[in-house]
Amino acid sequence: MLNSETWCVVGSGPAGIACALGLVAAGKDVTIVDPGVQLEPARREACLTLASGPVSEWTPASTAFLREGVTGSSSGIPIKLAYGSDFPYRHVPGATSITSDGADTKPSYARGGLSSVWGSAVLPHRQEDIADWPISIRDLEPGYRAVLQYMPLSARHDDLSAFFPLYSDRSAPLPMSRQATALLATFERRRASLNANGVYFGSSRLAVEARDSNARPLCVQCGLLHVWLSP
Ligand SMILES: Cc1cc2nc3c(=O)[nH]c(=O)nc-3n(C[C@H](O)[C@H](O)[C@H](O)COP(=O)(O)OP(=O)(O)OC[C@H]3O[C@@H](n4cnc5c(N)ncnc54)[C@H](O)[C@@H]3O)c2cc1C
Repeated sequence: MLNSETWCVVGSGPAGIACALGLVAAGKDVTIVDPGVQLEPARREACLTLASGPVSEWTPASTAFLREGVTGSSSGIPIKLAYGSDFPYRHVPGATSITSDGADTKPSYARGGLSSVWGSAVLPHRQEDIADWPISIRDLEPGYRAVLQYMPLSARHDDLSAFFPLYSDRSAPLPMSRQATALLATFERRRASLNANGVYFGSSRLAVEARDSNARPLCVQCGLLHVWLSP
């Protein structure tokens, strides 16, 4: 039972968590209400087993479950699963039905909402992109800064910063793959002509913790996004 001092946040997706953290920071007592669908225990165990050992010991057989249910083609994948599971999209009995008109929506009843399956790519809006919105970047900036107080950000200060400000001084970049390093080096060699043609480039930004509190790298560069390193 919630008392009159308790604030109730509906949903544990990114919006709900941001709201709850804002309320907690303001000294409020918060309860989050959520259907809370989660990854099946066996898959979770398998993830933790992988994360507890060195990547060199991972085998095609031990990582096969991560790719289950996904058949890729040249046009992409029909639906992105998380650790081989469709739990982020699973319906819950009794859930209010959602209808949409002109938008392709997929509701989530998972703990963490669709952030349990998202790609974690994060870029702020640009004023040009929201010119017809009733709010401006100036209105959004305090929110970006507040969220980045607790949301990890893997990012580099590069040419993109002029278009997409970092809004945080505590970003730590993930190490880049060989392919990404080579691609950026190729762009770098052609920077002048690319810029002259209105093309600017930089590293992608991810809501991922690149280093632990002792500045040790957390990413094991296994190439399989969404594998935990710790429970
Ligand atoms: C495959 C995929 C990849 C994506 N990649 C990216 C990306 O790289 N970068 C990016 O910025 N965005 C990405 N997104 C979009 C991003 O995940 C969503 O924009 C974001 O999760 C929306 O957050 P939200 O809190 O508004 O809603 P949701 O994440 O949908 O959370 C809704 C929450 O409400 C709860 N809920 C639902 N109904 C009820 C109810 N009746 N009562 C109580 N609780 C309820 C749910 O359980 C859930 O916890 C991706 C989405 C998908 C599906």
